[in-house]
Amino acid sequence: MAIVIAIDGPAAAGKSTIARRLAARLGFIYIDSGAMYRAVALWASREKLDPSDRHHMEQLALAADITLEDDGARVLLNGEDVTDAIRAPEVSRAASLVATIPGVRRALVEKQRAIGSQNNVVMEGRDIGSVVFPNADVKVFLDAKTEERVRRRAAEVNGNREVISQQLHERDERDRSRVEAPLTQQPDALYLDSTGLSIDEVEEAILRLVRARISNGKEYR
Ligand code: C5P
Repeated sequence: MAIVIAIDGPAAAGKSTIARRLAARLGFIYIDSGAMYRAVALWASREKLDPSDRHHMEQLALAADITLEDDGARVLLNGEDVTDAIRAPEVSRAASLVATIPGVRRALVEKQRAIGSQNNVVMEGRDIGSVVFPNADVKVFLDAKTEERVRRRAAEVNGNREVISQQLHERDERDRSRVEAPLTQQPDALYLDSTGLSIDEVEEAILRLVRARISNGKEYR
């Protein structure tokens, strides 16, 4: 049985940074599930399709060949490197619209499960501990105060705080209130507020949980 570490939480809470570090440390595969929703949204925008169009979005999600390479550092959509293109603000917004569509989620969850059932993974997203791997060995809900998340994202993209704050707020609202697989904290997840914590401190807190939960027969480096 492969080991799954699920990290969920709102946008810009630091999930990618920590998930990537944990995966490197443990020798697991890092999977950024949000990149998959972003890839479908990018494809839709290039095809000039409405990201709320259920039928077409489901078709794109089923047809999309999405691969994560170089330890999750590069995202390929139908063979093309879209690592930078999927980070554009309009793609973030479209991804959260695409992610409300049940057929899209079904298609992408299937791809995520296929990877996680074959490999030890650290997977980050919104519904990993609730829907994709409800039996994950370790579940973390990584949060941070809104001002901190805005500050981090603004520094990352060198953007205007007001605009970023409004975009994050809109996306979080949509992710928390959608009917299908909304962002929620699972009862068996460790709640971690990373505001004021260093990356090392967050990593250490999760590693303690990993050591406590993963034993009897399951091996990791
Ligand atoms: O994690 P990231 O911010 O890149 O995700 C982009 C969008 O994809 C999120 O705002 C959310 O709507 C969607 N998403 C999701 N379920 C996941 C991962 C991402 O609905 N597991």
